[in-house]
Amino acid sequence: MRLRDKVALVTGASRGIGLGIVELFSEQGAVVYAGSTSNPADAYPAGVIGIELDVANEADWERAIERVVRSHGRLDILVNNAGIIAYEPVHELDVAAWSKVVAVNQTGVFLGMREAVKVMRQHKSGSIVNVSSIWGSAAVAGAHAYHATKGAVANMSKNAALTYVADGIRVNSIHPGFIDTPLTQSQAPEINAFVIAATPMKRAGTPREIANGCLFLASDESSFMTGAELVIDGGYLAQ
Ligand code: NAP
Repeated sequence: MRLRDKVALVTGASRGIGLGIVELFSEQGAVVYAGSTSNPADAYPAGVIGIELDVANEADWERAIERVVRSHGRLDILVNNAGIIAYEPVHELDVAAWSKVVAVNQTGVFLGMREAVKVMRQHKSGSIVNVSSIWGSAAVAGAHAYHATKGAVANMSKNAALTYVADGIRVNSIHPGFIDTPLTQSQAPEINAFVIAATPMKRAGTPREIANGCLFLASDESSFMTGAELVIDGGYLAQ
């Protein structure tokens, strides 16, 4: 019960890493709001509250936070996990495809932090976990918009960490390596084989292994951490 009495909101919660975070936070005693665009009725453990939340939509964020505050009076934890990928290299990337990735992966994180800190500042506490990637710290060829946004998320987290440190709000980013999720299951097998071969542990990580890191950053156990990058990648970035 490492999150007993905490109120948490997780985005991109309907599957993959987000669902793993929701399940673990719920097991650990948090009141969990699970946001996604599809908001599947039966995806979540008992007690988890599913909400429609398109992270690129400002009004959705305002509605979601207002709903949490109306019911609980506060928000303790925000995990900005929702993310999408596009694979085009710079010379093949049109503005529409670029903007779509930026809207979800970067503007979504900005809006989430903005709305959450308004509430967290009132209570002088809160933990925000932003899901970046190994591609927020290093690169492979292609997927230019994805790299751009994940790098931005890492530095946005550091900036917000410093801006709100006196308000008792901690902001950290988490950097998964290759994780077995619907996202990676639906991408080209040769991409997956390439990344696993380049991972020293020679396997994919699981959503639970990322959720464990999110749990640590969300809980009071990480009370002296802010502005940090937590890498969970089977050794990939150590090379
Ligand atoms: P996934 O299996 O595709 O799941 C993505 C989640 O995001 C879904 O729940 C999806 O739900 C939601 N989502 C998509 N667009 C959204 C929007 N506009 N607003 C709200 N929710 C939205 O992906 P994943 O692999 O679990 O990835 C989760 C996060 O980890 C992403 O930020 C990703 O970049 C990052 N990450 C993943 C890996 C990996 O290897 N899997 C590695 C590094 C980082 P709906 O479609 O129902 O809205």
